[in-house]
Amino acid sequence: MSSLFIATANAHKIDEFRQLLGARHLVLSFRDTSARIDVPETADTFEGNAALKAIAWARYLAIDACNLGAEWVVADDSGLEVDALGGAPGVHSARFAAIDDGGASNSPDAANNAKLLRLLADVPDERRTARFRCVLAVVPVTDPNPSAVRHFSGACEGRVTRSGAGSHGFGYDPLFVPSGEARSFAELGPEAKARLSHRARAASALARWLDGR
Ligand code: IMP
Repeated sequence: MSSLFIATANAHKIDEFRQLLGARHLVLSFRDTSARIDVPETADTFEGNAALKAIAWARYLAIDACNLGAEWVVADDSGLEVDALGGAPGVHSARFAAIDDGGASNSPDAANNAKLLRLLADVPDERRTARFRCVLAVVPVTDPNPSAVRHFSGACEGRVTRSGAGSHGFGYDPLFVPSGEARSFAELGPEAKARLSHRARAASALARWLDGR
């Protein structure tokens, strides 16, 4: 069993990691410490942004995380790549609506989803293909440096619907139907997401690596 600090302020991601890794590993998060940090996501890849977050949190938390007993800091950078939009919103998924106004902070999910539907309004069903992508950057608390970062990734193919449906999950879940399914992630709920999602695949690659150490 390893102890992992999930370096995100996104409570939904933390819940998913607890579900994915909690049976075999100790999953810690900001809920277990008073430490808070906001890391500007200035890289143009998921790998780069995940590494920025993992290193920044590991350095910031060095003392706290050790007190918590965390061995590893795990950061998740993820997003939706829509083929008809040339891979957008991609690394800008969290601030998709705000970038229109030059904003650097995250936008409400409803605003991001509304913008996505607007941009795809004239795109026919067969061209609404997309994938969620998740890249995890993992760094030891004892060596929070770029040379010590490992990456694990996962993707989930699917398509973007014409209107939101379902109340589970977060982000673009109401608009995303995974391949082989007829309902959105937000309709399917946490069990399906834990089986099929980009995050589930990345977490399973991480778990295999942890098991092999
Ligand atoms: P990050 O926190 O910078 O990695 O931003 C990730 C953004 O991508 C989220 O705010 C969502 O908009 C989107 N996203 C990532 N993973 C998921 C998911 O599992 N479901 C729905 N949206 C997601």
